[in-house]
Amino acid sequence: MSEDCIFCQIVAGEIPSRTVYEDDDVFAFLDANPLAPGHTLVIPKSHHEHVQDMPNDLASDVFAVMHRLVDPIESAVDADGTTVAFNNGEAAGQEVPHAHGHVVPRFEDDGGGP
Ligand code: 5GP
Ligand code: ZN
Repeated sequence: MSEDCIFCQIVAGEIPSRTVYEDDDVFAFLDANPLAPGHTLVIPKSHHEHVQDMPNDLASDVFAVMHRLVDPIESAVDADGTTVAFNNGEAAGQEVPHAHGHVVPRFEDDGGGP
């Protein structure tokens, strides 16, 4: 755990969050400022700043959870599609320096694009 990392604090239960999924290595929770209803963040429980800092197996586990959550999240909010993405590095818009994937429900009339 990185003491000053908000996502590590969420994993530790020190900052409340709305859990979507949890296993030994991966945690998924609702985004506090959602781009759409059901916007979910999927993170490794261990602290890694960037996607490429995660061991390959862990990166696969994180993506597998994102993959598994697409259908239930789409169903929960009656979405027409999903943006499944990582902002990786500050230049790519990564604001929280703990690698995280976004699962963002999309709707026919929401303008499209990322
Ligand atoms: P980024 O821009 O780094 O890819 O995305 C960071 C995401 O984390 C944003 O969508 C933001 O709303 C979300 N976020 C930031 N702080 C918190 C928090 O304390 N709790 C939750 N649930 N989401 C957060
Ligand atoms: Zn962290």
